[in-house]
Amino acid sequence: MDYEKLAELLFGDIDKTPEDYEKEYPCRNLPEGAKVTRFAPSPTGFLHIGGLFAAFVGERTARKTGGVFYLRIEDTDKKREVENGVSGIVKGLSDFGITIDEGMLTETDSTGSYGPYTQSKRKAIYQAYCKDLVKKGLAYPCFCTAEELDEIRKEQEQNKQNPGYYGEFARCRNLTYEEIEEKIKSGKPYVLRLKSQGDENKRIKFNDAIKGEIEMPENVQDIVLLKTDGIPTYHFAHAVDDHLMRTTDVIRGDEWISSAPIHFQLFEMLGFAAPNYAHISPIMKEDAETGGKRKLSKRKDPEAAVSYYHEVGYPKEAVLEYLLTIANSNFEEWRAENPEKSRDDFDFKLSNMSKAGALFDLVKLNDISKNYICTLTKEEVFDRTLEWARAYNSDFAKILEENKDYATAIFGIERGNEKPRKDIAKWQDTVYYTKYFFESPTEFEWQENLSKQDMAEILTTYKGVYKDGEAAEEWFPKVRDMAESLGYAKAPKLYKKNPEDYKGHVGDVASVIRVAVTGRRNTPDLYEIIKVLGYDEFLKRIDGAISLLAK
Ligand code: GLU
Repeated sequence: MDYEKLAELLFGDIDKTPEDYEKEYPCRNLPEGAKVTRFAPSPTGFLHIGGLFAAFVGERTARKTGGVFYLRIEDTDKKREVENGVSGIVKGLSDFGITIDEGMLTETDSTGSYGPYTQSKRKAIYQAYCKDLVKKGLAYPCFCTAEELDEIRKEQEQNKQNPGYYGEFARCRNLTYEEIEEKIKSGKPYVLRLKSQGDENKRIKFNDAIKGEIEMPENVQDIVLLKTDGIPTYHFAHAVDDHLMRTTDVIRGDEWISSAPIHFQLFEMLGFAAPNYAHISPIMKEDAETGGKRKLSKRKDPEAAVSYYHEVGYPKEAVLEYLLTIANSNFEEWRAENPEKSRDDFDFKLSNMSKAGALFDLVKLNDISKNYICTLTKEEVFDRTLEWARAYNSDFAKILEENKDYATAIFGIERGNEKPRKDIAKWQDTVYYTKYFFESPTEFEWQENLSKQDMAEILTTYKGVYKDGEAAEEWFPKVRDMAESLGYAKAPKLYKKNPEDYKGHVGDVASVIRVAVTGRRNTPDLYEIIKVLGYDEFLKRIDGAISLLAK
C-alpha cells in the first residue's frame, strides 16, 4: 500500500505538518518544576461541583509551582452542547474565584498563545496529525456501518471473545488503495481508525499522582480517531491538545482511568511525551434512600450544580476553603493551627488527595461558611449581601438600598466580639435573619407557663423600666430586678429549687420581652437589637404586643 497516496486521498487539503505545529506551539519556557494544568469541560452550560473541584485542584497545582492553568472547551460532542454553554462554565469558575492564565474567556474570546482553546476550531490541526499517521501506515479509514459493527459484536459474544474492533475483526484494516478510493468516490461515510500496535499480553504501568501505581493491559482496539464528520474523539483530541498546549499534568475525573492505555498508546504513536496523570475520584453523597454512597447527581441533587452555591449565596472563600478540606485531609489541621493565614499559604499536594471519593458534607460547608462570615465587618456583610440580593432577590435588594445604615447596624449586632455569633452561613440566610427589623411581629407566641395577664404585666412594667440610651451593663440587672419585683425568681436555679414560690424566672421574663420585640424566641443579644431598632420602635412593639395579648 502506498500510504503517502492514501494520505493525500483522505487529507488532500491539509498542507501543514506536525513539524509546523511543533514550531507554532513550542515548549513553554517555564522554571523547572512548573506545572501546566487545564480544565477541559464540555460546553454544556452546567458546571458540576465535581468540575469546580477538578478545576480548583488544577489551578492550585499550577499556582503552587509557578506554572500555567488554562481552560479548554471540549465541544467535540455536539449532542451535549447547549447555547452559551461556555459562559455558564466561565461564570461558574469566576464566581468562585478560580482564575485562568489562558483559554476561553467568553463564548468567543480567549487569551494565550497556545490556542485555539475550543476543540471545534482545531479541526485542521487534528487532521494534520491524522494525515501523518496515515502516511506512516498507523491509521486507516473504516467504512463499517452500525449494522456491520453490530454483527461483529454478536459474533464475538457468541464465541465469548472480547468485544470491539481489533485484530481479525478489524475488517477495514486491510482494504486496498483501490477499494478505499472506490468507496470514497461513491460517497460512503467513514471514520479514521488507529492501527493499534498494542499487544494483549503486554501491560502498561504508570504512576498516577493520586491513585498511585496503576497497571493495565495494553490497548489492542483500533479506536476511532476522527468521526465521520472529521471531528476527533475525546481520546485523539486529548493527545493532540495536551501535547500542543504543553500540558504537564492531566488532572481529570477517574472515569478516564480505563482509557489510559489508549492514551499512552496514542502519545507513543504520535511521538509525544506522555503527561503525568492525576485521576480525581468523584464527589460522593450519602444516599437517603439506600443509606449507601453515590455520586452527587446533576439530576437528583441541587447542590451538584455550582450555580446553586452562588444562588443561595455561599461566599466563594467558604466554598474554596471547603473544597480544600475535601482535597487534602491535612488542610483542616493546618487551618486550625493557622487561622489567620491565607489559603494560598497551604502546601497543597496532589499526592495528599484521597483515593476514594470524598463525601460531600453540606453541614461542614455551612460551618466553614459561618466561621468565615463571622470574621467580616458589618460593612462587608452589607456589601456582599447587597451584591447577592441584586442578582437573586430584588425586593430584598431594594430594602437594603433604602436602609443602608440601618441594615449595616443590624449586621453589626454581636459582630467583632470575642465569640461572634454564627447565624449566617450564606447570603440568602440574611433575609430571615433581618426580617423582624423590617416587620413588626404580628402575633405573640404563647409562653407556656405564663398567663396573658402575667405577660402583659411584664411588658407594661418594662416600658417604664427601659430607658433610651441605657448602657449594656445596666440592661440585664434591670430586667432581673424587675423580674424579682414582679414575683419571678432572679435566677433559673432558684426557681428550680422552689417552683411553687415563683411565677417563673428571669429567663421567662426576658423571653416575653424578646418575643414582644422580635416575634422570635431565639435571637442575638436583645439589648443590641433594641438599640438598633431605636427607642420609638421599641415602645411601638411593646404596645403592639400588649394589644395582641389583649385579644
Ligand atoms: N471533556 C472531558 C470531560 O468533560 C475532559 C476530561 C479531561 O479533563 O481530559 O470529561
